[in-house]
Amino acid sequence: HSFKWGKIFRIKLNISKVWTMIISFVQEKEREKRDKDKEGKEKDKKTVNGHVFTSVSLGQAVQCSQCNKAFNSKEAFHCIHCNASVHKGCRDSLPICAKVKMKIKAFSQLLHQ
Ligand SMILES: [Zn+2]
Ligand SMILES: [Zn+2]
Repeated sequence: HSFKWGKIFRIKLNISKVWTMIISFVQEKEREKRDKDKEGKEKDKKTVNGHVFTSVSLGQAVQCSQCNKAFNSKEAFHCIHCNASVHKGCRDSLPICAKVKMKIKAFSQLLHQ
């Protein structure tokens, strides 16, 4: 009887271990983002919430995925994962990238099997 409960307890421990891994992964990404903000340098590629942004020239992007306004300057950025196009200032307020969301979903599906 006690063996059975011990087994269930071990499985629960494994699940919390996986969640700890996911949380630390997200925290590390946030730390990376903060470190990049501290540097204050503008690079061609920037990662925000899992989005990988590259600067695009005018004409490729029609309107911003975040504020739905048209691009009136050359400060348009495009995510190579989810195809979102946003203003330079809208990058930080975009929700987490669809590609990262899919990864987390796959993780939780694994847990519920
Ligand atoms: Zn994206
Ligand atoms: Zn915008």
